[in-house]
Amino acid sequence: MNALNEQVAIVTGASRGIGRAVVQAYARQGARVVLVATREAPLRSVCNDLGLSTEQTLCVAADVSKASDCQAVVSQAMQRWGQVDVLVNNAGIYHAAPFLEHTPQDFQRLLDVNLFGVMHFMQACLPHMQLRRSGSIINIASTAGKWGSRNQSAYNTSKHAVVGLTRCVALEASTHQVTVNAICPGFVQTDMIDELKAQAAQAAGASVDEFVKAMMTRVPLGRLMQPTEIAEMAVFLGSSAARGITGQSLHIDGGMVFS
Ligand code: NAP
Repeated sequence: MNALNEQVAIVTGASRGIGRAVVQAYARQGARVVLVATREAPLRSVCNDLGLSTEQTLCVAADVSKASDCQAVVSQAMQRWGQVDVLVNNAGIYHAAPFLEHTPQDFQRLLDVNLFGVMHFMQACLPHMQLRRSGSIINIASTAGKWGSRNQSAYNTSKHAVVGLTRCVALEASTHQVTVNAICPGFVQTDMIDELKAQAAQAAGASVDEFVKAMMTRVPLGRLMQPTEIAEMAVFLGSSAARGITGQSLHIDGGMVFS
């Protein structure tokens, strides 16, 4: 049987990268999927490219940093299917700069999307999940939420906050049998990793080649993770097989070490 048969899942940041892979894996496992990103057209392209029907999908443009947008997405999902079983909070942005060059606006924007986006969507979904005493929330944090990194203090701060928020909300939601977990990817082959290589190399005063060489010495498996590997963990955490797991933040990082 499919692991997510008849489940309704909201996936943010679904227009590319990890989010797109989650949509594909969830649809394959029988879920009905609400795709969210800032523009609708790329979401429709994802559905077309993956051969997903309009019966199985709902594409909604929303800016996760706006609480009203997040509430509107959940209202549309509820109107369409009457339930939300899984929330995958994946939308995120990256920015690298030495701490002394970071502006308060940099911090604000990263927190608005990476932290408040997660908060808004959890606040919009939890009441429905708690009422049914069932639901799984999966927040895509990062290994950057577990340790320090040079030249990305705003990004790491936002991801540490997501890990902390996950732990706290898991405790409160547990009384309603709703699970809340985080996945902490290491380096994943997406557009964001290309951004990271270019920006982080510049911030470190290194060439991209030098930066990538140093970056890969930190990954014992010696390769970038693939978006599908993150998606498979999201399938597991959203499935009934994972009902006993909550408050955790699980690394998928090729054994990445802190440096
Ligand atoms: P990506 O390829 O850059 O995709 C980011 C997604 O987030 C896009 O779909 C983008 O949609 C969406 N998004 C950005 N801002 C948004 C907003 N304000 N409202 C709604 N959607 C928004 O990134 P990715 O690598 O797949 O990353 C996905 C998640 O994994 C992020 O949270 C990231 O921090 C985390 N992560 C990534 C890596 C990595 O190595 N790639 C490692 C650790 C953690 P539009 O731009 O189309 O709106």
